[in-house]
Amino acid sequence: MQNPISQTLESVCQRINLATNKTQAVTLIAVSKTQPIEKILQAYAAGIRDFGENRTVELANKVKALAHLTDISWHFIGNLQTRQSLVVAEHADYFHALDRLKIAQRLDKQLQTTNKILPVFLQINITGEPSKSGFAANRWQHDSKQREQLIANITTIMQLDNLKILGLMTMAEFNTSADITRQTFTDLRQLSEFLQTEIPEFNAPELSMGMSGDFELAIAEGATYVRVGQAIFGERQ
Ligand SMILES: *Cc1c(COP(=O)(O)O)cnc(C)c1O
Repeated sequence: MQNPISQTLESVCQRINLATNKTQAVTLIAVSKTQPIEKILQAYAAGIRDFGENRTVELANKVKALAHLTDISWHFIGNLQTRQSLVVAEHADYFHALDRLKIAQRLDKQLQTTNKILPVFLQINITGEPSKSGFAANRWQHDSKQREQLIANITTIMQLDNLKILGLMTMAEFNTSADITRQTFTDLRQLSEFLQTEIPEFNAPELSMGMSGDFELAIAEGATYVRVGQAIFGERQ
Protein backbone atom coordinates (compact mmCIF):
# COMPACT_ATOMS: atom_id res chain seq x y z
CA MET A 1 0.00 0.00 0.00
CA GLN A 2 1.18 3.49 -0.79
CA ASN A 3 2.30 5.63 2.09
CA PRO A 4 -0.56 8.16 2.41
CA ILE A 5 1.79 10.97 3.33
CA SER A 6 4.43 10.53 0.67
CA GLN A 7 2.64 12.65 -1.93
CA THR A 8 2.04 15.74 0.17
CA LEU A 9 5.50 15.40 1.63
CA GLU A 10 7.10 15.17 -1.77
CA SER A 11 5.25 18.25 -2.94
CA VAL A 12 6.39 20.21 0.13
CA CYS A 13 9.98 19.10 -0.45
CA GLN A 14 9.77 20.15 -4.09
CA ARG A 15 8.45 23.57 -3.13
CA ILE A 16 11.28 23.92 -0.61
CA ASN A 17 13.86 23.01 -3.24
CA LEU A 18 12.42 25.53 -5.69
CA ALA A 19 12.51 28.28 -3.07
CA THR A 20 16.04 27.53 -1.94
CA ASN A 21 19.19 28.92 -3.47
CA LYS A 22 21.87 26.32 -3.88
CA THR A 23 23.94 27.26 -0.85
CA GLN A 24 21.10 27.37 1.65
CA ALA A 25 20.46 24.30 3.78
CA VAL A 26 16.86 24.17 4.97
CA THR A 27 15.69 21.73 7.61
CA LEU A 28 12.06 20.71 7.26
CA ILE A 29 10.37 20.17 10.59
CA ALA A 30 7.17 18.17 10.20
CA VAL A 31 4.81 19.70 12.75
CA SER A 32 3.03 16.65 14.10
CA LYS A 33 1.06 18.35 16.90
CA THR A 34 -2.40 16.78 17.30
CA GLN A 35 -1.48 14.05 14.80
CA PRO A 36 -1.61 10.41 15.88
CA ILE A 37 1.51 8.24 16.15
CA GLU A 38 0.46 6.44 13.00
CA LYS A 39 0.95 9.62 10.94
CA ILE A 40 4.35 10.24 12.47
CA LEU A 41 5.34 6.71 11.50
CA GLN A 42 4.21 7.39 7.93
CA ALA A 43 6.31 10.54 7.77
CA TYR A 44 9.22 8.67 9.32
CA ALA A 45 8.91 5.93 6.71
CA ALA A 46 9.01 8.66 4.06
CA GLY A 47 12.30 9.90 5.46
CA ILE A 48 11.36 12.66 7.92
CA ARG A 49 13.46 12.75 11.10
CA ASP A 50 12.52 16.16 12.53
CA PHE A 51 9.15 16.52 14.22
CA GLY A 52 7.55 19.53 15.89
CA GLU A 53 5.25 19.53 18.91
CA ASN A 54 3.78 22.36 20.95
CA ARG A 55 2.25 20.71 24.02
CA THR A 56 4.39 19.22 26.74
CA VAL A 57 2.14 16.27 27.59
CA GLU A 58 1.83 15.33 23.95
CA LEU A 59 5.59 15.66 23.46
CA ALA A 60 6.35 13.38 26.41
CA ASN A 61 3.85 10.77 25.24
CA LYS A 62 5.14 10.72 21.69
CA VAL A 63 8.79 10.61 22.73
CA LYS A 64 8.02 7.59 24.90
CA ALA A 65 5.91 5.85 22.28
CA LEU A 66 8.63 6.30 19.65
CA ALA A 67 11.71 5.85 21.83
CA HIS A 68 12.84 2.96 19.62
CA LEU A 69 13.33 5.38 16.71
CA THR A 70 16.52 6.83 18.09
CA ASP A 71 17.29 9.07 15.14
CA ILE A 72 14.21 11.30 15.55
CA SER A 73 14.83 14.91 16.62
CA TRP A 74 11.99 16.43 18.62
CA HIS A 75 11.50 20.17 18.21
CA PHE A 76 9.39 21.89 20.83
CA ILE A 77 7.86 24.85 19.01
CA GLY A 78 5.22 26.08 21.47
CA ASN A 79 5.40 28.61 24.24
CA LEU A 80 6.33 27.07 27.52
CA GLN A 81 4.73 27.59 30.90
CA THR A 82 7.27 27.80 33.68
CA ARG A 83 5.94 24.79 35.53
CA GLN A 84 6.16 22.61 32.41
CA SER A 85 9.75 23.37 31.53
CA LEU A 86 11.13 20.08 32.87
CA VAL A 87 9.37 18.17 30.09
CA VAL A 88 11.23 20.20 27.49
CA ALA A 89 14.51 19.90 29.40
CA GLU A 90 14.10 16.13 29.44
CA HIS A 91 12.52 15.32 26.09
CA ALA A 92 13.14 18.06 23.53
CA ASP A 93 16.14 18.04 21.20
CA TYR A 94 15.47 21.64 20.11
CA PHE A 95 13.40 24.46 21.58
CA HIS A 96 12.15 27.09 19.14
CA ALA A 97 10.13 29.39 21.36
CA LEU A 98 12.40 30.67 24.10
CA ASP A 99 10.57 33.91 24.82
CA ARG A 100 11.72 35.15 28.24
CA LEU A 101 14.65 35.14 30.60
CA LYS A 102 12.92 33.31 33.40
CA ILE A 103 12.30 30.24 31.22
CA ALA A 104 15.90 30.33 30.00
CA GLN A 105 17.27 30.35 33.53
CA ARG A 106 14.94 27.62 34.72
CA LEU A 107 15.66 25.36 31.74
CA ASP A 108 19.39 25.89 32.20
CA LYS A 109 19.19 24.75 35.80
CA GLN A 110 17.14 21.68 34.94
CA LEU A 111 19.51 20.78 32.11
CA GLN A 112 22.52 21.00 34.40
CA THR A 113 21.37 17.98 36.36
CA THR A 114 21.80 15.76 33.29
CA ASN A 115 24.63 17.72 31.62
CA LYS A 116 22.43 18.15 28.59
CA ILE A 117 22.92 21.07 26.25
CA LEU A 118 19.71 22.20 24.56
CA PRO A 119 19.86 24.06 21.24
CA VAL A 120 17.38 26.94 21.33
CA PHE A 121 15.94 29.67 19.16
CA LEU A 122 14.98 33.01 20.67
CA GLN A 123 11.42 33.80 19.73
CA ILE A 124 11.20 37.37 18.52
CA ASN A 125 8.02 39.42 18.40
CA ILE A 126 8.89 41.35 15.29
CA THR A 127 5.35 42.36 14.30
CA GLY A 128 4.54 43.99 17.64
CA GLU A 129 1.21 42.18 17.94
CA PRO A 130 0.23 42.17 21.63
CA SER A 131 -1.09 38.60 21.30
CA LYS A 132 2.33 37.28 20.30
CA SER A 133 5.01 35.98 22.60
CA GLY A 134 8.66 36.70 22.15
CA PHE A 135 11.30 39.24 22.93
CA ALA A 136 10.05 42.62 21.74
CA ALA A 137 11.82 43.79 18.61
CA ASN A 138 9.15 45.51 16.50
CA ARG A 139 10.99 48.84 16.66
CA TRP A 140 14.57 47.61 16.95
CA GLN A 141 15.84 49.82 14.12
CA HIS A 142 14.47 53.05 15.60
CA ASP A 143 14.22 52.48 19.33
CA SER A 144 17.58 52.26 21.04
CA LYS A 145 15.99 51.33 24.39
CA GLN A 146 14.26 48.33 22.88
CA ARG A 147 17.45 47.36 21.09
CA GLU A 148 19.56 47.60 24.23
CA GLN A 149 17.03 45.61 26.23
CA LEU A 150 17.11 42.85 23.62
CA ILE A 151 20.91 42.78 23.56
CA ALA A 152 21.03 42.65 27.36
CA ASN A 153 18.63 39.70 27.41
CA ILE A 154 20.58 37.84 24.76
CA THR A 155 23.86 38.49 26.53
CA THR A 156 22.41 37.05 29.74
CA ILE A 157 21.14 33.94 27.96
CA MET A 158 24.52 33.46 26.27
CA GLN A 159 26.05 33.04 29.70
CA LEU A 160 23.86 30.02 30.48
CA ASP A 161 26.10 27.02 29.83
CA ASN A 162 23.38 24.47 29.12
CA LEU A 163 21.56 26.45 26.45
CA LYS A 164 23.07 26.89 23.02
CA ILE A 165 21.46 29.68 21.01
CA LEU A 166 21.20 28.64 17.35
CA GLY A 167 19.33 31.66 16.10
CA LEU A 168 16.02 33.51 15.99
CA MET A 169 12.47 32.34 15.45
CA THR A 170 9.34 34.25 14.53
CA MET A 171 5.81 33.89 13.24
CA ALA A 172 4.22 36.20 10.69
CA GLU A 173 0.79 37.72 11.16
CA PHE A 174 -2.12 35.50 10.22
CA ASN A 175 -4.42 36.57 7.38
CA THR A 176 -2.28 39.28 5.96
CA SER A 177 -0.78 40.01 2.56
CA ALA A 178 2.27 38.24 1.13
CA ASP A 179 4.07 41.59 1.12
CA ILE A 180 3.61 42.12 4.84
CA THR A 181 4.51 38.51 5.60
CA ARG A 182 7.67 38.79 3.56
CA GLN A 183 8.58 42.07 5.28
CA THR A 184 8.29 40.32 8.65
CA PHE A 185 10.81 37.72 7.51
CA THR A 186 13.08 40.42 6.06
CA ASP A 187 12.98 42.23 9.41
CA LEU A 188 13.96 39.10 11.30
CA ARG A 189 16.84 38.38 8.95
CA GLN A 190 18.11 41.93 9.25
CA LEU A 191 17.84 41.79 13.02
CA SER A 192 19.82 38.54 12.98
CA GLU A 193 22.53 40.11 10.81
CA PHE A 194 22.65 43.13 13.11
CA LEU A 195 23.03 40.96 16.22
CA GLN A 196 25.85 38.94 14.63
CA THR A 197 27.89 42.11 14.23
CA GLU A 198 26.76 43.81 17.42
CA ILE A 199 27.23 41.06 20.01
CA PRO A 200 30.73 39.58 20.23
CA GLU A 201 30.62 35.79 20.04
CA PHE A 202 26.92 35.68 19.18
CA ASN A 203 27.34 32.95 16.66
CA ALA A 204 23.69 32.13 16.06
CA PRO A 205 22.78 32.73 12.42
CA GLU A 206 19.94 30.20 12.05
CA LEU A 207 16.43 31.44 11.24
CA SER A 208 13.38 29.38 12.20
CA MET A 209 10.54 30.91 10.20
CA GLY A 210 7.88 29.77 7.78
CA MET A 211 4.83 27.53 8.18
CA SER A 212 2.43 25.84 5.70
CA GLY A 213 1.09 29.14 4.39
CA ASP A 214 4.31 31.06 4.03
CA PHE A 215 7.39 28.82 4.02
CA GLU A 216 8.46 29.79 0.51
CA LEU A 217 8.54 33.47 1.44
CA ALA A 218 10.49 32.60 4.59
CA ILE A 219 13.06 30.59 2.62
CA ALA A 220 13.46 33.44 0.15
CA GLU A 221 14.35 35.60 3.15
CA GLY A 222 16.88 33.14 4.52
CA ALA A 223 14.98 30.65 6.70
CA THR A 224 17.11 27.64 7.62
CA TYR A 225 14.38 25.82 9.57
CA VAL A 226 10.77 25.73 8.40
CA ARG A 227 7.97 24.37 10.58
CA VAL A 228 5.32 22.80 8.37
CA GLY A 229 2.28 20.92 9.62
CA GLN A 230 -0.92 21.03 7.60
CA ALA A 231 0.73 21.08 4.17
CA ILE A 232 2.15 17.65 5.05
CA PHE A 233 -0.46 16.04 7.29
CA GLY A 234 -3.62 17.74 6.09
CA GLU A 235 -5.88 19.92 8.21
CA ARG A 236 -5.72 19.45 11.95
CA GLN A 237 -8.92 18.19 13.58
C1 LIG B 1 1.35 24.76 14.46
C2 LIG B 1 2.60 25.51 14.27
C3 LIG B 1 3.28 25.47 13.04
C4 LIG B 1 2.77 24.72 11.83
O1 LIG B 1 1.63 25.31 11.32
P1 LIG B 1 0.98 24.75 9.94
O2 LIG B 1 0.07 25.84 9.53
O3 LIG B 1 0.29 23.49 10.29
O4 LIG B 1 2.09 24.53 9.00
C5 LIG B 1 4.48 26.16 12.96
N1 LIG B 1 4.97 26.85 13.99
C6 LIG B 1 4.35 26.92 15.17
C7 LIG B 1 4.96 27.71 16.26
C8 LIG B 1 3.14 26.27 15.35
O5 LIG B 1 2.51 26.34 16.53
